[in-house]
Amino acid sequence: MQHNASALRTALMGQKMSSFETSESLIVSPKVGRTIEELRVENRSIEIIWDDGLALKTEMKLRGSWRIFHDGEKWSKTKKSAQVIIGVDEMSVVCFGAREIEAYHDFDLRRHPMLGRLGPELADPRVDLNDCVDRLMNYENPDETIADVLLDQRVMRGIGNVHRCELLWACELHPWAKVGSLSVDECLELVSLAAGVLRGNSLLASTELAVYGKHGKICTRCSGQVRVTHHGEANRVLYWCVDCQVRHTDVTSQGYVIKHDAPLGVHPAEHLYLSELARVRKSV
Ligand SMILES: [Zn+2]
Repeated sequence: MQHNASALRTALMGQKMSSFETSESLIVSPKVGRTIEELRVENRSIEIIWDDGLALKTEMKLRGSWRIFHDGEKWSKTKKSAQVIIGVDEMSVVCFGAREIEAYHDFDLRRHPMLGRLGPELADPRVDLNDCVDRLMNYENPDETIADVLLDQRVMRGIGNVHRCELLWACELHPWAKVGSLSVDECLELVSLAAGVLRGNSLLASTELAVYGKHGKICTRCSGQVRVTHHGEANRVLYWCVDCQVRHTDVTSQGYVIKHDAPLGVHPAEHLYLSELARVRKSV
């Protein structure tokens, strides 16, 4: 049976991917262990986005479809004709009959800068944080928003979307603050916090997340309300507190979009993120 977008959403959103197979030759592939964060559907195009910003886009032929098979269930089509098989919790989500399949890092859709130009890996304790600060201070477009720049893998690697939202909240930074308006100290604070979490020696988000997945909830710091939007070139989901994340608010005011398909106040990626943090801490 052909599954519609909402069935695919239910099967995939917030799930940790356990396997990935494809018959296509893709430039980049989704990584096993990453969480599926969003699904965008437009006509016959389906885009699946993982929490590290990797996107897989399929343009379906008229009779093409994504199908869901539970483990042990007999497939209604041959495995040979499958173009993509995504393994999640006791299920295979399978693409048949796509006209075109491509994968890319979603932040870099326009710029395609990936090859050979990646920034330092923050989780690596040998990485000099001042190098990352320099990259922030000298960012090619000083008017770019800090929310977008934190996901730019050319500046530094390792900051996923959950982490980005929490970092901006911890630093009380407005997500749309221009990167060029940040001081050296502010950049260092951001980078140090980010590295601290990835290296397992920070208390940030140790028990509960502050804003990610908290749409409509009360901010624990200021009792304001946490909002959600889709932001920036990559259009990733972004949570922030409008009342206390006010540093560098002298930015062109942009409206926030409330259209969002995660349930109010809860996001399954939150739990996975927290359990991963706990694991990192244990292993240090
Ligand atoms: Zn607040």
